Amino acid sequence: MNKKIDYEYFEEKLRKEREEVIKEIKILEPKVEGNPIEEGEETTPFPTHIADIADVESRLNRDSYLITQLTWKLKDIDAALRKIVEKTYGICEDCDNGIRRERLEAIPYAKYCKSCADKREKVGWREEEL
Ligand SMILES: [Zn+2]
Repeated sequence: MNKKIDYEYFEEKLRKEREEVIKEIKILEPKVEGNPIEEGEETTPFPTHIADIADVESRLNRDSYLITQLTWKLKDIDAALRKIVEKTYGICEDCDNGIRRERLEAIPYAKYCKSCADKREKVGWREEEL
């Protein structure tokens, strides 16, 4: 058990982070789905130069990549909020040890303790970047 964890504090933190993520997704989604050009943007709806087209495309790719990242993050946040309810928040999913508070401050939705995350990183898996 991780008795030192202040559940309320982290729940608040996670909820705020969740709102931010949803906000970001809402901003990015219309750009990716359907109309790539947002109102008020300076880019012309029909780029005439190859460079412009490439630019719009790379922007769209970046946006959809960001959405994917944000969606993962949202899932992790939801999972963390569930753990708060179940009182298992702050416990590493791999080794069952408590995750250090500093780590939770930086990544409140962290699933693993630092050493387990490092181990996973070595095999090509990494915790969400900050
Ligand atoms: Zn661990």
